[in-house]
Amino acid sequence: MNLHLSDKVFLISGGAKGIGGAISRLIAEEGGIPVMIDPSEKEGYALVKEFGQIGAKSLHIQKRLQSPQDADEAVKVALAAFGRIDGVVNNAGANDSVGLENGSPEAFRKSVESNLGHYYDLVHYALPALKVSKGSIVNISSKTAITGQGNTSGYTAAKGGQLSLTREWAVELLPYGIRVNAVIPAEVMTPLYQKWLNTFPNPENKLGEISRRVPLERRMTKPEEIANMVVFLLSGRSAHTTGQHIFVDGGYTHLDRVV
Ligand code: NAP
Repeated sequence: MNLHLSDKVFLISGGAKGIGGAISRLIAEEGGIPVMIDPSEKEGYALVKEFGQIGAKSLHIQKRLQSPQDADEAVKVALAAFGRIDGVVNNAGANDSVGLENGSPEAFRKSVESNLGHYYDLVHYALPALKVSKGSIVNISSKTAITGQGNTSGYTAAKGGQLSLTREWAVELLPYGIRVNAVIPAEVMTPLYQKWLNTFPNPENKLGEISRRVPLERRMTKPEEIANMVVFLLSGRSAHTTGQHIFVDGGYTHLDRVV
């Protein structure tokens, strides 16, 4: 299937590693131009080099989105480089374990702000360009928004907020033909996930335990499997899909555990 992404420009927050890195790579392989907004210097540099070897243009904006100004600047840099924006993937985030008992009101607010604020900021500043291109927005949320996890109030509040904003923006942006969807992962092996696994006394055992809980094939989802859905949603091949919450999780969130 040709996704017709040639020369289209996509912003990906956290686009240099993990799920975001896989999304950037697939966009480049499909002929599009990934603009990776990510603080990771080494990984961003390596991806730009890798994409250049297959003749794909790309840009690494080495930045952590922490304030509205950061998002504004990133959008300006992308527009100065390529003159258009065809889609935004809000992906950057981290489960920072700020719970009711192990957190504080201040830490809760900080967690919500750092996981949710830049989802709004990036779309706000990219919107004029998205109106021109009739672009597509994909928000990466988390199964914890639906299932809860315990001891992570800030992260889950932000992830739930991302799902609400997906519906809200899908409605608000109907007049412009801009589509907005969310992709919801559960257990995906990424640098962040590996870091979390390493906090257990026996990471290998923990990984086996978690993998056995995934109904389909008893394995972790691959970052590339998330990317496949995201890039389809960015493309015109999903032209009549908007406001959807799509679970790419091997059945983790919804299927009966008895089988
Ligand atoms: P990851 O391996 O840490 O990759 C995320 C990348 O984003 C890193 O390079 C990170 O840089 C960067 N980043 C973090 N905060 C940023 C910010 N404010 N601005 C710009 N870049 C930022 O994470 P991942 O596992 O791929 O997760 C990606 C998304 O999927 C997150 O929203 C996460 O909540 C969601 N998710 C993941 C899983 C999973 O199982 N992995 C499950 C459910 C949902 P640093 O490393 O320097 O911080």
